[in-house]
Amino acid sequence: MINGKEYIDRMDALQNEIWIKGKKCSGKLSELAPFKGILNSKAELYDYQCQHENRKLFRYSLSDRKEEYGFSYHQPLSLEDLTNRRKATQEWARLSAGLMGRSPDYMNTLLMALGAAAPHFSKDRKEFGDNIKRLYERARNEDLSITHTFINPQVNRSIAHYLDDSTVTAAKVVEEKKEGIVIQGARLLATQGGLTDELLVLPAGGNSLDDSYVFGFMIPANTKGLKFLCRESFCYSDCAFDHPLASQFEEIDSIVVFEQVLVPWECVFVYKNLETMANVEEETGMYAFLQFQSVCRQVVKLEYILGLCEMIGDAIQIQEYEHVKQKMSEIITALEIMKALLLSSEVNSQPNRYGTWIPASPPLKAAIQYFPGVYPRLIEIIEMLGASGLISIPTEKDFQSEIKGDLERYLQGSNIEAKERVRLFRMAWDLSMSAFGSRQTQFERFFFGDPIRLAAVHYNSYPIQPFVDQVQDFLNKIEKK
Ligand SMILES: Cc1cc2nc3c(=O)[nH]c(=O)nc-3n(C[C@H](O)[C@H](O)[C@H](O)COP(=O)(O)OP(=O)(O)OC[C@H]3O[C@@H](n4cnc5c(N)ncnc54)[C@H](O)[C@@H]3O)c2cc1C
Repeated sequence: MINGKEYIDRMDALQNEIWIKGKKCSGKLSELAPFKGILNSKAELYDYQCQHENRKLFRYSLSDRKEEYGFSYHQPLSLEDLTNRRKATQEWARLSAGLMGRSPDYMNTLLMALGAAAPHFSKDRKEFGDNIKRLYERARNEDLSITHTFINPQVNRSIAHYLDDSTVTAAKVVEEKKEGIVIQGARLLATQGGLTDELLVLPAGGNSLDDSYVFGFMIPANTKGLKFLCRESFCYSDCAFDHPLASQFEEIDSIVVFEQVLVPWECVFVYKNLETMANVEEETGMYAFLQFQSVCRQVVKLEYILGLCEMIGDAIQIQEYEHVKQKMSEIITALEIMKALLLSSEVNSQPNRYGTWIPASPPLKAAIQYFPGVYPRLIEIIEMLGASGLISIPTEKDFQSEIKGDLERYLQGSNIEAKERVRLFRMAWDLSMSAFGSRQTQFERFFFGDPIRLAAVHYNSYPIQPFVDQVQDFLNKIEKK
């Protein structure tokens, strides 16, 4: 298990190839403006898990060893283990108000689910099972952080596109060597791409016509030929007063380019075999675990939205109005629905054939359907309640200037001083209207996949037949009457 300093030192030493605003990054990553906020916030998570008082929840050891590992690598073997996982995940999420979509536990959890089901990957080739087990154990032992890229570039989404080989830009295998496979092309969209130790890749789906797109592997982020092309940073200054959220939690998203990247065979666990992926959920529970982690975080985010809106209402005394109460009730309802779905997934969890205690999938799938729809509405509520308060937000420098007196007089709240009021409304602005806030909304809409196609999967996978039988029995009884 590592602490925050060890994480930062590791990131600084990796020298991953990262491009931002037309320049290749050099020097210490933790000293570069676009990255230092998120690296420090992640370092806080690692420090938190090392604190003595958090030991019980955040660390575990194996019966035959004395080493301690971080909670997110723990294979839950009982309901109690799963409950502990929820508590730790939410405690970590509270440190970032649920705004860090890719806290390290997200991918660590996935790797745990895959590693615990290693025999599934051995069905194709024995060494693939050994590989995923070894990759999981190494990541756990070294407390590695991981980013991922599961999507092909958005160049052309028509089904016919993949028949036209000359225009396809998606990463594919272009050569098989004794040492490994060579990958050329691009993938998206790696949140925190370049800011982690490793990169995990799974088949993107949608182009099953050609098996050279079917691969799963994990490689160090500084592997030769691997490039992370970042979007511009949405953290416009590191002043915590002016950008209370972006300055800490701007994660950066990047396109991943594979320039003749040699992936050693030891790092590969899926290769040209769609069957491995066809029943990967049944065998590993990986999506259930990822959704469990996400819903834990989203519940925390809702707690923060509720608290924030109540404070806005109090600052300008609008809680007495019926429509404000109705909007607050919408937030409370969303929070309670998400909490209920999370707990339902926990109490209905069951062990799989490898002994891993898997959260129940139906309530989690419902949550993953519900949240992308309700989240933009809750952001709209923040905007409707805050109104001009989200625009009247002078900077810290304004409060240190000659106009300080004016600001203190005209921006005070009903029971709150002007600077505190602006601090509060700046947080609301940064969550809703800033570039950082807009990206948060887009993230919640899409991070788990296209909501339209997820809805189809939801419908196709739901066990509806008992309800059909129930209606049929009912109709049969009517006929007999
Ligand atoms: C902020 C953010 C962070 C992200 N972070 C990550 C990450 O860390 N790792 C990662 O792997 N991915 C990440 N993603 C990518 C995410 O998984 C995708 O956005 C999501 O899967 C949708 O794919 P797309 O963006 O390519 O949209 P597209 O698939 O291009 O869809 C665009 C539109 O076309 C429609 N459409 C396209 N194809 C079909 C079809 N076959 N049937 C029906 N409708 C279709 C969609 O419904 C949508 O309206 C992130 C996305 C965002 C926005």
